[in-house]
Amino acid sequence: MKSLQKIDIAARDLSEEVHDANFIGAKMKSERRYAALERDYADPDKLRETAGLIKQHTLENLDTYLEKAEAALQRNGAKVHFAVDDERAKQVVLDIMNEHGCKSMVKSKSMLTEEIHLLDFLEKNGKEVVETDLGEFILQIDHDHPSHIVTPIVHKNRRGIAKSFEREGLGDYNDDPETITRRARKFLRQKYLDADVGLTGANFVSAESGRIALVTNEGNARFCMAANKVHIAIVGIEKLVPSDRELGVFLNLIGRSGTGQQLTVYNQFIGGPKSAGQPHGPEHMHVIFVDNRRSEVLASDCREILRCIRCGACLNVCPVYRQSGGHAYRSVYPGPVGAVLSPLLAGNRFPELADLPKASSLCGACNEVCPVNIPIPDLLLRLRDKAKREKAGDAMKGTPDLTMWAVLCSQPTMWKTALKMGHTMNYIPTEMIPHPSAMSWQSQRKLPKFEGGKFRKWFKNHKSN
Ligand code: SF4
Repeated sequence: MKSLQKIDIAARDLSEEVHDANFIGAKMKSERRYAALERDYADPDKLRETAGLIKQHTLENLDTYLEKAEAALQRNGAKVHFAVDDERAKQVVLDIMNEHGCKSMVKSKSMLTEEIHLLDFLEKNGKEVVETDLGEFILQIDHDHPSHIVTPIVHKNRRGIAKSFEREGLGDYNDDPETITRRARKFLRQKYLDADVGLTGANFVSAESGRIALVTNEGNARFCMAANKVHIAIVGIEKLVPSDRELGVFLNLIGRSGTGQQLTVYNQFIGGPKSAGQPHGPEHMHVIFVDNRRSEVLASDCREILRCIRCGACLNVCPVYRQSGGHAYRSVYPGPVGAVLSPLLAGNRFPELADLPKASSLCGACNEVCPVNIPIPDLLLRLRDKAKREKAGDAMKGTPDLTMWAVLCSQPTMWKTALKMGHTMNYIPTEMIPHPSAMSWQSQRKLPKFEGGKFRKWFKNHKSN
């Protein structure tokens, strides 16, 4: 039992209710994705390939595009900052708030702010921060973390949320979803008006125009930005696209891939702070480009993962994610994308997360749905190899030595004999299976009966017919 992987344990310990919510939600989003792409495009795979090529081209010329984006943003009146790591990124946000005398912030959903733990840092430094995405707001009042990139509270139910709202003084217990939403809306509207600064992420940044594209389903990002005198956009350096023209490709793919929507409900294109003639909008705009080990990933043999547009499609389709839920990945980025990205971004902490690439059956479904065509199974294999070479943590614990298996597979006579004898496996009691990893498999899964040998017979007959 000791050799059970951490992700296996998380899957086993998931309550039935959370498991079902996770499984059904993921399956539904996958089905909607498939329907939307098949309905709207003659060849969706061609579109995915094109999007992947655009992102790969941008990554391979990232230095040039970053300089272009900086120049364009400055032309538009924004101030551009670069942060090499999480500490620097947090300090830059704090410095901007202090420079403008800001005490309170409203923010929209951003995985990058989760990655660098911005909220805790600002609160420790005396600032008030309010999450305005409904899911993130619920996570904030519960001191919880997202379990999905797009639908962060898929692990929660309305009864639990109603209790949280009651506890926080947002009304008596009422688990009607509309009532919950209305109460959150009323509370948050006032926060938008009271705050001094609005912080958003960016889904894409056009290097040519300096335009930031933001997509949300709640419209909260535009309130964060427009209702305050200062707008901060915090952006991973991989979010660039060459020009506005390419935005069309990605905006068409991100909604369909994530939730099966033709287009996400709110799409904002922000060119800079408000101009002299505009009555409303932020007077100051700061854009912080954050590296935080992305340059190291770019220099590695797993650089394709930086194409990711955070649509969540690979999570929804993944048989491991569907069973284990997002928290099992012990990092900000769950699912197949997280199994690659989280260990890479962990730096010296790689051994702690080096088991994640093993949390995959390598079925390839993640690659098939990825809108930017990331070869996730290949990257998982490269990371498994890295873990093995570096003897990273307990990543290889429980992995059987495959030497005997390799000998068996490469000797046709031995292989044929093994197949003939294989049926005896059906009569060996589980407790007599010697290898500890095989024991852990048996304890978690019902293995099918051994029925080897039939294929060769069939093939022989098939050939002779
Ligand atoms: S890896 Fe691909 S499918 Fe997964 S979240 Fe990123 S873009 Fe979407």
